[in-house]
Amino acid sequence: MSLLARERATFADRHPGSRAAYQRSDHLFGRVPMTWMNKAAGDFPIHLDRARGNRIVDVDGNEFVDFALGDTGAMAGHSPAPVVAAVTERVQRGLATMMPTEDAAVAGAELARRFGLPAWSFALTATDANRWAIRLLRAVTGRSKILVNSYCYHGSVDESLIVAGPDGRGVSREGNVGAPVDVTLTSRVAEFNDLDGLERELAHGDVAAVLMEPALTNIGIVLPEEGYLAGVRELTRRFGTYLINDETHTFSAGPGGATAFWGLEPDVLTIGKAIGGGVPVGAYGLSAELADALSGRGDLDLVDMGGVGGTLAGNPVSMAATRATLQEVLTDDAFATMIETATAFADGIQKIIEGYGLPWSVSRLGARVEYRFASPAPRNGTESAAGANAVLEDFLHLYLANRGVLLTPFHNMALMCPETSLADVARHHEIFDAALKELT
Ligand code: PMP
Repeated sequence: MSLLARERATFADRHPGSRAAYQRSDHLFGRVPMTWMNKAAGDFPIHLDRARGNRIVDVDGNEFVDFALGDTGAMAGHSPAPVVAAVTERVQRGLATMMPTEDAAVAGAELARRFGLPAWSFALTATDANRWAIRLLRAVTGRSKILVNSYCYHGSVDESLIVAGPDGRGVSREGNVGAPVDVTLTSRVAEFNDLDGLERELAHGDVAAVLMEPALTNIGIVLPEEGYLAGVRELTRRFGTYLINDETHTFSAGPGGATAFWGLEPDVLTIGKAIGGGVPVGAYGLSAELADALSGRGDLDLVDMGGVGGTLAGNPVSMAATRATLQEVLTDDAFATMIETATAFADGIQKIIEGYGLPWSVSRLGARVEYRFASPAPRNGTESAAGANAVLEDFLHLYLANRGVLLTPFHNMALMCPETSLADVARHHEIFDAALKELT
């Protein structure tokens, strides 16, 4: 039996309850509440019983050390006590009124303090924050196109499902579901870390905004080279293009995300997931200049049918959760601990990989660590995509899961929350080392 088949069999043995629950889900499309939940290295997903801090217990009673943390939705840890308290209190006093609560103003002020942009608006997902930001910047510039980096991910945003083809020109991303129009009509693309490519695309003069992560995090972690982010800012200014930093994942860099960490000056910042401590929320922050320009535009319907907003966005529970997460959980001290833990995680992985002489690389962005099956570390999304190995990834994910450790299902990403301990890191490394011993 191959190692992978053995691990699949062990997985099935350890999870009879999850398998039965999956089999009973006849009236769920794909047998899961949301199709992505089928992204599992085993033949069915692990079903949740409960989670707290960085521990998950499944319906079979297996306990896991969780480095996936809901693909960042739980960067604050699962059900952090201050968020549970704030939500529990709020949930009994009205859920869907379409009226502001004071928590929102406090959360907005805290986001402004951390990220340096003065005017905030809330959504329920990072995807929607990106969608609405895009609409606003198209409106302000009168330009039609959005530029993204090849192999980026910004949520289910039509404009972002583009990659650079072999000749560098944009083509629809493989698997793109039901594109409304050819994506090259709405978008341009440049490789991360490629200022010449960016300049070439911006020179067309039709790009309303560059939407980017300051480091790519959804195709492994690809870090910016010296001078790249400053170059992006200089070029966007020169060509009259707005810059949106999507900090949904790069928030791991520190209390003010990559924007504060690297001293960046975006015009708009979008974020979601972690800032709600696990409760759905998204947000975008605007520069003063943009907020003024938009407020002065009587032709834009920002209060009803204009295409920016949502009925439950800014609801009292999301706002209470966001306030509590920012003020009491993902604090400066918490980040210091998380980053220290992540540094130990990255250093340990590096040592193990070197010990086996594997041509792999490790990248870290604050509290987030990822290893890729390529060395040196990829410089852009296309290089990183080329280093993917689905079978090897499945094996490692299963090997770890069967021994009580979870990585994010989408790649080899490990995220630290405030509760993640050095003992948890050591546990991961011991299993990771055993997996490589079997492989090599
Ligand atoms: N932006 C980035 C950078 C992301 O990684 C993601 C999700 N992985 C999103 C936006 C979308 O988040 P959501 O699915 O919560 O809308």
